[in-house]
Amino acid sequence: MSQYKPLTTQEYDTLHQSLARLLSTRTVPVVIPGEAILGIEAIAAGIAAPGRTILNVVTGPYGTLFGKWLARGGAVVVEVESSFDDVITVEAVAEAIEKVKPSALSFVHAESVTGGTNPARRILELARKSNLITIIDSVSAIGAEPVLMDEWGIDFVTIGAQKGLAGPNGISAVGISDRGWDFLEQNPNAPRNSILSLLDLKSPEEGSNPPRIPANIPALEARALLEALEQIEQEGLPNVNKRHSLASSATIAGLKALGLEPWQSHEASYSPLVTTVRLPEDGRLQVERPIGSVAPGDGAMEGKLLRINHFGANAKRGSVEQAIKTLAELLGQEPAQALAAVGEAWGHDHDH
Ligand SMILES: *Cc1c(COP(=O)(O)O)cnc(C)c1O
Repeated sequence: MSQYKPLTTQEYDTLHQSLARLLSTRTVPVVIPGEAILGIEAIAAGIAAPGRTILNVVTGPYGTLFGKWLARGGAVVVEVESSFDDVITVEAVAEAIEKVKPSALSFVHAESVTGGTNPARRILELARKSNLITIIDSVSAIGAEPVLMDEWGIDFVTIGAQKGLAGPNGISAVGISDRGWDFLEQNPNAPRNSILSLLDLKSPEEGSNPPRIPANIPALEARALLEALEQIEQEGLPNVNKRHSLASSATIAGLKALGLEPWQSHEASYSPLVTTVRLPEDGRLQVERPIGSVAPGDGAMEGKLLRINHFGANAKRGSVEQAIKTLAELLGQEPAQALAAVGEAWGHDHDH
């Protein structure tokens, strides 16, 4: 079957170009031959070194994991944490930069586990002022909200396709700026000949021969990603973002009409990818396993919140309505009023 054949150089080029457009960058992103967490671990392995101080912002479990990988590589890791029902404030990051004087700053853009989105653009602005290398995990942001690599001055950004892009999870990408490549190359501990090596995956300079496709790029997944990115371009990335933010505001409207409360404390930080609902103390709304896009909390969030995964193919009105119906049913309430609130929020935003 043709879809099993190795990628052609043309397909590989197209993939790079689509990924660059997706990230709004002039640089060539790296295709990661595995799920997004591999790219995240590869960044940690590539930048960590004794003598490098890295400020790691922790707003959820992926940030904690990244900090451990940095420390494993010998970096001095200083963490600034938010409570998991909130995101980090720009002020807290500014204070920490002032105190720690790091060479790099890392954070998770949007938290699928807690349903919060960090003020990424403003954090990156701060980091640029202090000339820091910036590392951002945008796996749960891409597709749902803007990720402007060059304009925001991002040096390393990880993305996956299985959340907001409705694509495959067996392949992912890391965007790396020129400064980012220098930061890797200057690190004698950056892996080579390893599944964690970004330097191994670096594309040759344009025009050099022969064009090389790393042998470990999975062709089936690469073609699935190409297809997903083509769909996104057809719809238009801003429209895809819009669909996610509508899904978020409609979900919030629906759950409030049911008398429920968002888990995240501040409206400005509601993630357009996932809405989290605070579980009532009376034990209602406990679910053991996902019901459609309504899912129990992951890990430490279990028993504290419910997730409504309104992303990818579920970032549409029908899916939000279904999720609200599910919540109403679990509460033993009539859904009509909450569904009207969903419709109102969806229609309302559409007029603007
Ligand atoms: C989902 C997610 C990941 C992991 O992605 P995988 O493809 O499952 O490895 C990493 N970071 C964040 C913030 C995520 O939401």
